[in-house]
Amino acid sequence: MAVVVMKFGGTSVANVERIKNVARHVKREVDAGNQVAAVVSAMTGVTNQLVSWVRETSVLHDAREYDAVVASGEMVTAGLLAIALQSLGIQARSWQGWQIPVITDKSHGSARITGIDGEPLRQRLAAGEVAVVTGFQGIEPENNRLATLGRGGSDTSAVALAIALKADICDIYTDVDGVYTTDPRVVPKARRLPKVSYEEMLEMASLGSKVLQTRSVELAMVHRMRTRVLSSFVAPDAMPAVGGSNSWEDIGTIVCDEDEIVEQQVVSGIAYAKDEAKVTILKVADKPGIAARIFGPLAEANVNVDMIVQNLSADGRHTDMTFTVQASELPRTLEVLKGTKADIGYFDVKSSADVVKVSVIGVGMRSHAGVAAMMFKALADKGINILAITTSEIKISVLIDAVYAELAVRTLHTLYGLDKD
Ligand code: ASP
Ligand code: MG
Repeated sequence: MAVVVMKFGGTSVANVERIKNVARHVKREVDAGNQVAAVVSAMTGVTNQLVSWVRETSVLHDAREYDAVVASGEMVTAGLLAIALQSLGIQARSWQGWQIPVITDKSHGSARITGIDGEPLRQRLAAGEVAVVTGFQGIEPENNRLATLGRGGSDTSAVALAIALKADICDIYTDVDGVYTTDPRVVPKARRLPKVSYEEMLEMASLGSKVLQTRSVELAMVHRMRTRVLSSFVAPDAMPAVGGSNSWEDIGTIVCDEDEIVEQQVVSGIAYAKDEAKVTILKVADKPGIAARIFGPLAEANVNVDMIVQNLSADGRHTDMTFTVQASELPRTLEVLKGTKADIGYFDVKSSADVVKVSVIGVGMRSHAGVAAMMFKALADKGINILAITTSEIKISVLIDAVYAELAVRTLHTLYGLDKD
Protein backbone atom coordinates (compact mmCIF):
# COMPACT_ATOMS: atom_id res chain seq x y z
CA MET A 1 0.00 0.00 0.00
CA ALA A 2 1.30 3.41 -0.98
CA VAL A 3 0.48 7.03 -0.26
CA VAL A 4 -0.01 8.71 -3.63
CA VAL A 5 -0.55 12.33 -4.58
CA MET A 6 -2.26 12.56 -7.98
CA LYS A 7 -2.29 15.96 -9.64
CA PHE A 8 -4.57 16.69 -12.60
CA GLY A 9 -3.86 19.66 -14.86
CA GLY A 10 -6.32 21.83 -16.77
CA THR A 11 -6.78 19.64 -19.85
CA SER A 12 -7.34 16.60 -17.61
CA VAL A 13 -10.31 18.33 -15.96
CA ALA A 14 -11.46 20.36 -18.98
CA ASN A 15 -15.13 19.39 -18.62
CA VAL A 16 -17.42 17.16 -16.57
CA GLU A 17 -16.68 14.12 -18.76
CA ARG A 18 -12.93 14.59 -18.18
CA ILE A 19 -13.51 15.03 -14.44
CA LYS A 20 -15.41 11.74 -14.38
CA ASN A 21 -12.46 10.17 -16.20
CA VAL A 22 -10.13 11.55 -13.53
CA ALA A 23 -12.38 10.04 -10.85
CA ARG A 24 -11.84 6.63 -12.47
CA HIS A 25 -8.05 7.12 -12.32
CA VAL A 26 -8.39 7.86 -8.62
CA LYS A 27 -10.68 4.85 -8.14
CA ARG A 28 -8.06 2.56 -9.68
CA GLU A 29 -5.58 3.63 -7.00
CA VAL A 30 -8.13 3.36 -4.18
CA ASP A 31 -9.19 -0.11 -5.35
CA ALA A 32 -5.53 -1.17 -5.26
CA GLY A 33 -5.42 -0.18 -1.58
CA ASN A 34 -3.50 3.07 -2.00
CA GLN A 35 -4.19 6.22 0.01
CA VAL A 36 -4.86 9.13 -2.32
CA ALA A 37 -4.77 12.91 -2.19
CA ALA A 38 -5.78 14.45 -5.53
CA VAL A 39 -4.66 17.98 -6.40
CA VAL A 40 -6.56 19.75 -9.17
CA SER A 41 -6.04 22.71 -11.49
CA ALA A 42 -8.79 24.88 -12.89
CA MET A 43 -10.51 23.65 -16.07
CA THR A 44 -8.56 24.58 -19.23
CA GLY A 45 -8.89 28.25 -20.07
CA VAL A 46 -10.62 29.19 -16.81
CA THR A 47 -7.60 30.83 -15.15
CA ASN A 48 -6.87 32.78 -18.35
CA GLN A 49 -10.46 33.98 -18.39
CA LEU A 50 -10.30 35.04 -14.74
CA VAL A 51 -7.00 36.86 -15.25
CA SER A 52 -8.38 38.74 -18.23
CA TRP A 53 -11.49 39.79 -16.32
CA VAL A 54 -9.28 41.20 -13.60
CA ARG A 55 -7.18 43.13 -16.13
CA GLU A 56 -10.26 44.35 -17.94
CA THR A 57 -11.66 45.70 -14.69
CA SER A 58 -8.46 47.56 -13.91
CA VAL A 59 -4.95 47.30 -15.29
CA LEU A 60 -3.56 48.48 -11.98
CA HIS A 61 -5.37 46.12 -9.65
CA ASP A 62 -4.85 45.07 -6.05
CA ALA A 63 -2.89 41.80 -6.04
CA ARG A 64 -4.91 40.45 -3.10
CA GLU A 65 -8.12 40.82 -5.08
CA TYR A 66 -6.47 39.27 -8.16
CA ASP A 67 -5.80 36.25 -5.95
CA ALA A 68 -9.37 36.24 -4.64
CA VAL A 69 -10.61 36.02 -8.22
CA VAL A 70 -8.13 33.65 -9.86
CA ALA A 71 -8.11 31.14 -6.99
CA SER A 72 -11.77 30.38 -7.69
CA GLY A 73 -11.09 28.18 -10.73
CA GLU A 74 -9.56 25.39 -8.65
CA MET A 75 -12.42 25.49 -6.15
CA VAL A 76 -14.87 24.51 -8.84
CA THR A 77 -12.85 21.51 -10.02
CA ALA A 78 -12.13 20.30 -6.48
CA GLY A 79 -15.82 20.26 -5.60
CA LEU A 80 -16.78 18.58 -8.88
CA LEU A 81 -14.14 15.86 -8.51
CA ALA A 82 -15.28 15.14 -4.94
CA ILE A 83 -18.84 14.74 -6.25
CA ALA A 84 -17.68 12.52 -9.14
CA LEU A 85 -15.77 10.31 -6.68
CA GLN A 86 -18.71 10.06 -4.31
CA SER A 87 -20.93 8.92 -7.15
CA LEU A 88 -18.46 6.09 -7.80
CA GLY A 89 -18.98 5.06 -4.18
CA ILE A 90 -15.68 6.51 -2.94
CA GLN A 91 -15.48 8.52 0.27
CA ALA A 92 -14.11 11.89 -0.79
CA ARG A 93 -13.91 15.43 0.53
CA SER A 94 -12.68 18.65 -1.11
CA TRP A 95 -10.17 20.93 0.61
CA GLN A 96 -9.34 24.52 -0.25
CA GLY A 97 -5.92 25.94 0.53
CA TRP A 98 -7.03 27.67 3.74
CA GLN A 99 -8.70 24.57 5.13
CA ILE A 100 -5.57 22.41 5.22
CA PRO A 101 -3.97 24.99 5.61
CA VAL A 102 -1.35 25.56 2.92
CA ILE A 103 0.58 28.50 4.42
CA THR A 104 2.21 30.98 2.04
CA ASP A 105 4.21 34.17 2.18
CA LYS A 106 2.75 37.54 1.21
CA SER A 107 3.83 37.74 -2.44
CA HIS A 108 0.32 37.72 -3.84
CA GLY A 109 0.15 36.39 -7.38
CA SER A 110 3.41 34.46 -7.05
CA ALA A 111 3.41 33.35 -3.42
CA ARG A 112 5.70 30.69 -2.03
CA ILE A 113 4.48 27.90 0.19
CA THR A 114 6.12 28.21 3.60
CA GLY A 115 4.48 25.26 5.32
CA ILE A 116 1.79 22.59 5.22
CA ASP A 117 0.68 20.60 8.25
CA GLY A 118 0.09 17.20 6.71
CA GLU A 119 -1.15 15.47 9.86
CA PRO A 120 -4.92 16.15 9.67
CA LEU A 121 -5.05 15.08 6.02
CA ARG A 122 -2.95 12.03 6.78
CA GLN A 123 -5.51 10.92 9.33
CA ARG A 124 -8.30 11.33 6.79
CA LEU A 125 -6.39 9.32 4.21
CA ALA A 126 -5.65 6.60 6.75
CA ALA A 127 -9.39 6.44 7.49
CA GLY A 128 -9.99 5.65 3.82
CA GLU A 129 -11.08 9.07 2.61
CA VAL A 130 -9.76 10.62 -0.60
CA ALA A 131 -8.73 14.26 -0.13
CA VAL A 132 -9.35 16.46 -3.17
CA VAL A 133 -7.21 19.57 -2.83
CA THR A 134 -7.30 22.84 -4.78
CA GLY A 135 -3.95 23.47 -6.44
CA PHE A 136 -2.41 26.89 -7.01
CA GLN A 137 -3.55 28.43 -3.72
CA GLY A 138 -2.82 28.82 -0.05
CA ILE A 139 -3.40 31.29 2.73
CA GLU A 140 -1.20 34.10 3.95
CA PRO A 141 -1.85 33.84 7.70
CA GLU A 142 -0.94 37.31 8.95
CA ASN A 143 -3.75 38.99 7.05
CA ASN A 144 -5.77 35.83 6.62
CA ARG A 145 -5.94 36.28 2.85
CA LEU A 146 -5.93 33.85 -0.05
CA ALA A 147 -2.72 33.80 -2.06
CA THR A 148 -1.95 32.12 -5.40
CA LEU A 149 1.34 30.56 -6.40
CA GLY A 150 1.89 31.93 -9.91
CA ARG A 151 0.82 30.42 -13.23
CA GLY A 152 1.29 26.68 -13.39
CA GLY A 153 1.45 26.64 -9.60
CA SER A 154 -0.66 23.52 -9.10
CA ASP A 155 2.40 21.39 -9.85
CA THR A 156 4.09 23.02 -6.88
CA SER A 157 0.99 22.50 -4.71
CA ALA A 158 1.10 18.80 -5.55
CA VAL A 159 4.79 18.34 -4.79
CA ALA A 160 4.52 20.33 -1.55
CA LEU A 161 1.55 18.25 -0.44
CA ALA A 162 3.36 15.02 -1.34
CA ILE A 163 6.26 16.12 0.86
CA ALA A 164 3.94 17.04 3.75
CA LEU A 165 2.14 13.70 3.46
CA LYS A 166 5.44 11.78 3.07
CA ALA A 167 3.92 10.30 -0.08
CA ASP A 168 5.62 7.47 -1.95
CA ILE A 169 5.22 9.29 -5.24
CA CYS A 170 3.79 12.50 -6.65
CA ASP A 171 2.03 11.65 -9.92
CA ILE A 172 1.43 14.63 -12.21
CA TYR A 173 -1.24 13.76 -14.79
CA THR A 174 -1.26 15.87 -17.92
CA ASP A 175 -2.03 15.60 -21.64
CA VAL A 176 1.34 14.12 -22.64
CA ASP A 177 2.57 10.70 -21.59
CA GLY A 178 5.87 11.87 -20.15
CA VAL A 179 8.93 14.06 -20.57
CA TYR A 180 10.49 13.83 -24.02
CA THR A 181 14.06 14.26 -25.25
CA THR A 182 12.71 17.35 -26.96
CA ASP A 183 9.37 18.76 -28.10
CA PRO A 184 7.82 15.97 -30.26
CA ARG A 185 5.99 18.60 -32.31
CA VAL A 186 9.35 19.85 -33.54
CA VAL A 187 11.16 16.52 -33.70
CA PRO A 188 8.84 13.59 -34.45
CA LYS A 189 11.72 11.26 -33.52
CA ALA A 190 11.78 12.56 -29.93
CA ARG A 191 11.67 9.79 -27.33
CA ARG A 192 9.95 9.58 -23.96
CA LEU A 193 12.50 9.44 -21.16
CA PRO A 194 11.56 6.66 -18.70
CA LYS A 195 13.54 8.48 -16.02
CA VAL A 196 15.20 11.87 -15.74
CA SER A 197 17.24 13.29 -12.87
CA TYR A 198 15.99 16.18 -10.74
CA GLU A 199 18.89 18.33 -11.92
CA GLU A 200 18.17 17.71 -15.60
CA MET A 201 14.45 18.25 -15.16
CA LEU A 202 15.14 21.52 -13.39
CA GLU A 203 17.26 22.71 -16.32
CA MET A 204 14.65 21.52 -18.81
CA ALA A 205 11.85 23.31 -16.97
CA SER A 206 13.73 26.58 -16.66
CA LEU A 207 15.10 26.38 -20.22
CA GLY A 208 11.73 26.17 -21.90
CA SER A 209 10.10 22.75 -21.44
CA LYS A 210 6.60 23.53 -20.19
CA VAL A 211 5.76 20.15 -18.67
CA LEU A 212 6.38 21.07 -15.03
CA GLN A 213 6.52 24.40 -13.24
CA THR A 214 10.17 25.15 -12.39
CA ARG A 215 9.42 25.72 -8.72
CA SER A 216 7.81 22.31 -8.38
CA VAL A 217 10.98 20.66 -9.67
CA GLU A 218 13.14 22.70 -7.29
CA LEU A 219 11.00 21.56 -4.41
CA ALA A 220 11.02 17.92 -5.52
CA MET A 221 14.80 18.09 -5.88
CA VAL A 222 15.43 19.57 -2.45
CA HIS A 223 13.20 17.00 -0.74
CA ARG A 224 14.04 14.10 -3.07
CA MET A 225 10.34 13.58 -3.79
CA ARG A 226 10.01 11.14 -6.69
CA THR A 227 7.66 12.81 -9.16
CA ARG A 228 6.16 11.19 -12.21
CA VAL A 229 4.71 12.82 -15.34
CA LEU A 230 2.00 10.75 -17.02
CA SER A 231 -1.13 11.09 -19.13
CA SER A 232 -4.70 11.14 -17.88
CA PHE A 233 -5.79 10.44 -21.47
CA VAL A 234 -4.87 6.76 -21.17
CA ALA A 235 -7.91 4.66 -20.20
CA PRO A 236 -7.96 4.45 -16.38
CA ASP A 237 -8.09 0.66 -16.25
CA ALA A 238 -5.39 0.25 -18.91
CA MET A 239 -2.85 1.55 -16.39
CA PRO A 240 -1.32 -0.33 -13.45
CA ALA A 241 -1.92 1.20 -10.02
CA VAL A 242 1.10 2.49 -8.07
CA GLY A 243 2.82 -0.54 -6.55
CA GLY A 244 0.27 -2.77 -8.31
CA SER A 245 2.61 -4.69 -10.57
CA ASN A 246 6.29 -4.46 -11.37
CA SER A 247 5.55 -2.56 -14.54
CA TRP A 248 3.89 0.45 -12.95
CA GLU A 249 7.17 2.38 -13.04
CA ASP A 250 7.39 1.95 -16.82
CA ILE A 251 4.50 4.35 -17.32
CA GLY A 252 5.33 8.02 -17.87
CA THR A 253 8.58 9.67 -16.83
CA ILE A 254 9.91 9.46 -13.28
CA VAL A 255 11.89 12.44 -12.06
CA CYS A 256 14.32 10.93 -9.56
CA ASP A 257 17.87 10.75 -8.23
CA GLU A 258 20.49 10.33 -10.91
CA ASP A 259 21.82 7.19 -9.16
CA GLU A 260 18.54 5.52 -10.03
CA ILE A 261 19.15 5.94 -13.76
CA VAL A 262 21.14 3.01 -15.06
CA GLU A 263 21.60 3.91 -18.69
CA GLN A 264 22.60 7.54 -18.36
CA GLN A 265 23.19 9.30 -21.68
CA VAL A 266 25.70 12.13 -21.99
CA VAL A 267 22.92 14.39 -23.25
CA SER A 268 19.36 13.66 -22.10
CA GLY A 269 17.41 16.40 -23.78
CA ILE A 270 17.31 19.48 -25.96
CA ALA A 271 15.23 22.44 -24.79
CA TYR A 272 14.40 25.65 -26.56
CA ALA A 273 12.87 28.92 -25.46
CA LYS A 274 11.31 31.35 -27.91
CA ASP A 275 10.44 34.10 -25.46
CA GLU A 276 13.94 35.58 -25.43
CA ALA A 277 15.04 39.01 -26.57
CA LYS A 278 18.54 40.24 -27.26
CA VAL A 279 19.81 43.69 -26.33
CA THR A 280 23.13 45.13 -27.47
CA ILE A 281 24.57 48.29 -25.99
CA LEU A 282 27.00 49.79 -28.46
CA LYS A 283 30.21 51.52 -27.49
CA VAL A 284 30.21 51.59 -23.72
CA ALA A 285 33.36 52.68 -21.94
CA ASP A 286 35.69 49.74 -21.23
CA LYS A 287 36.46 50.45 -17.60
CA PRO A 288 35.70 49.05 -14.13
CA GLY A 289 32.16 49.54 -12.83
CA ILE A 290 30.36 49.72 -16.15
CA ALA A 291 28.68 46.32 -15.89
CA ALA A 292 27.41 47.24 -12.44
CA ARG A 293 26.00 50.50 -13.78
CA ILE A 294 24.16 48.64 -16.55
CA PHE A 295 22.86 45.64 -14.64
CA GLY A 296 22.23 47.31 -11.27
CA PRO A 297 19.33 49.44 -12.50
CA LEU A 298 17.92 46.48 -14.47
CA ALA A 299 17.93 44.33 -11.34
CA GLU A 300 16.24 47.12 -9.40
CA ALA A 301 13.54 47.24 -12.08
CA ASN A 302 13.07 43.48 -11.60
CA VAL A 303 14.34 42.60 -15.06
CA ASN A 304 15.87 39.14 -15.17
CA VAL A 305 19.00 39.16 -17.28
CA ASP A 306 20.02 35.78 -18.63
CA MET A 307 22.95 35.48 -21.05
CA ILE A 308 25.65 38.16 -21.08
CA VAL A 309 28.42 38.64 -23.64
CA GLN A 310 30.97 41.41 -23.54
CA ASN A 311 33.05 41.88 -26.65
CA LEU A 312 36.72 42.63 -26.57
CA SER A 313 37.31 46.27 -27.26
CA ALA A 314 39.29 46.97 -30.36
CA ASP A 315 40.54 50.38 -29.30
CA GLY A 316 40.95 49.56 -25.61
CA ARG A 317 38.42 52.21 -24.67
CA HIS A 318 35.01 51.05 -25.88
CA THR A 319 33.21 47.74 -25.97
CA ASP A 320 29.80 46.30 -26.94
CA MET A 321 27.70 44.55 -24.34
CA THR A 322 25.06 42.01 -25.39
CA PHE A 323 22.58 40.33 -23.07
CA THR A 324 19.21 38.60 -23.15
CA VAL A 325 15.98 39.16 -21.24
CA GLN A 326 12.48 37.68 -21.46
CA ALA A 327 10.79 39.10 -24.56
CA SER A 328 7.96 40.41 -22.38
CA GLU A 329 10.50 42.41 -20.37
CA LEU A 330 12.10 44.04 -23.42
CA PRO A 331 10.08 47.30 -23.32
CA ARG A 332 10.89 47.77 -19.62
CA THR A 333 14.56 46.98 -20.29
CA LEU A 334 14.80 49.61 -23.02
CA GLU A 335 13.04 52.13 -20.77
CA VAL A 336 15.57 51.53 -17.98
CA LEU A 337 18.52 51.80 -20.36
CA LYS A 338 17.22 55.07 -21.77
CA GLY A 339 17.11 56.46 -18.25
CA THR A 340 20.72 55.48 -17.58
CA LYS A 341 22.20 56.68 -20.87
CA ALA A 342 23.81 59.74 -19.34
CA ASP A 343 25.29 57.75 -16.48
CA ILE A 344 26.59 54.82 -18.57
CA GLY A 345 27.57 56.88 -21.61
CA TYR A 346 26.93 54.55 -24.53
CA PHE A 347 26.47 55.24 -28.23
CA ASP A 348 23.29 53.31 -29.05
CA VAL A 349 21.08 50.38 -28.04
CA LYS A 350 19.89 47.72 -30.48
CA SER A 351 17.40 44.98 -29.70
CA SER A 352 15.67 42.05 -31.31
CA ALA A 353 13.10 39.54 -30.18
CA ASP A 354 13.69 37.25 -33.17
CA VAL A 355 16.04 35.02 -31.25
CA VAL A 356 15.73 31.64 -29.53
CA LYS A 357 17.78 29.93 -26.89
CA VAL A 358 18.57 26.30 -27.63
CA SER A 359 20.06 24.20 -24.83
CA VAL A 360 21.50 20.73 -24.53
CA ILE A 361 21.14 19.19 -21.09
CA GLY A 362 22.67 16.14 -19.46
CA VAL A 363 24.33 15.18 -16.19
CA GLY A 364 26.70 13.06 -18.29
CA MET A 365 28.44 16.29 -19.36
CA ARG A 366 30.14 16.43 -15.97
CA SER A 367 32.29 13.48 -16.97
CA HIS A 368 32.47 13.88 -20.76
CA ALA A 369 34.61 16.46 -22.50
CA GLY A 370 33.87 17.82 -25.95
CA VAL A 371 30.09 18.09 -25.76
CA ALA A 372 30.21 21.83 -26.44
CA ALA A 373 32.75 21.54 -29.25
CA MET A 374 30.53 18.97 -30.98
CA MET A 375 27.56 21.29 -30.64
CA PHE A 376 29.33 24.32 -32.08
CA LYS A 377 30.68 22.34 -35.02
CA ALA A 378 27.29 20.84 -35.88
CA LEU A 379 25.65 24.27 -35.82
CA ALA A 380 28.44 25.77 -37.92
CA ASP A 381 28.05 22.98 -40.50
CA LYS A 382 24.42 24.05 -40.90
CA GLY A 383 25.44 27.68 -41.27
CA ILE A 384 23.84 28.69 -37.98
CA ASN A 385 25.50 31.65 -36.31
CA ILE A 386 25.80 31.66 -32.50
CA LEU A 387 24.98 35.03 -30.93
CA ALA A 388 25.69 34.18 -27.29
CA ILE A 389 26.66 31.17 -25.20
CA THR A 390 26.19 30.22 -21.56
CA THR A 391 27.11 27.02 -19.83
CA SER A 392 26.72 25.29 -16.51
CA GLU A 393 27.99 21.94 -15.32
CA ILE A 394 25.13 20.09 -16.99
CA LYS A 395 23.95 22.34 -19.82
CA ILE A 396 25.11 24.43 -22.76
CA SER A 397 22.83 27.12 -24.14
CA VAL A 398 23.28 29.05 -27.35
CA LEU A 399 21.33 32.01 -28.63
CA ILE A 400 20.55 31.89 -32.36
CA ASP A 401 18.28 33.58 -34.89
CA ALA A 402 14.69 32.38 -34.50
CA VAL A 403 14.42 31.13 -38.07
CA TYR A 404 16.99 28.43 -37.30
CA ALA A 405 15.29 27.14 -34.13
CA GLU A 406 13.82 23.95 -35.57
CA LEU A 407 16.85 23.14 -37.68
CA ALA A 408 19.11 23.55 -34.65
CA VAL A 409 16.94 21.41 -32.38
CA ARG A 410 16.65 18.63 -34.97
CA THR A 411 20.38 18.73 -35.74
CA LEU A 412 21.38 18.48 -32.08
CA HIS A 413 18.81 15.79 -31.36
CA THR A 414 20.40 13.59 -34.02
CA LEU A 415 23.94 14.60 -33.09
CA TYR A 416 23.68 13.34 -29.52
CA GLY A 417 21.98 10.09 -30.51
CA LEU A 418 18.55 10.94 -29.15
CA ASP A 419 16.48 10.04 -32.24
CA LYS A 420 14.29 7.01 -31.74
CA ASP A 421 14.87 4.25 -34.25
N1 ASP B 1 -4.83 27.16 -12.91
C1 ASP B 1 -3.56 27.75 -12.67
C2 ASP B 1 -2.94 28.23 -13.97
O1 ASP B 1 -3.47 28.07 -15.02
C3 ASP B 1 -2.63 26.85 -11.96
C4 ASP B 1 -2.28 25.59 -12.69
O2 ASP B 1 -3.01 25.14 -13.56
O3 ASP B 1 -1.25 25.00 -12.39
O4 ASP B 1 -1.87 28.80 -13.93
MG1 MG C 1 0.63 23.10 -15.88
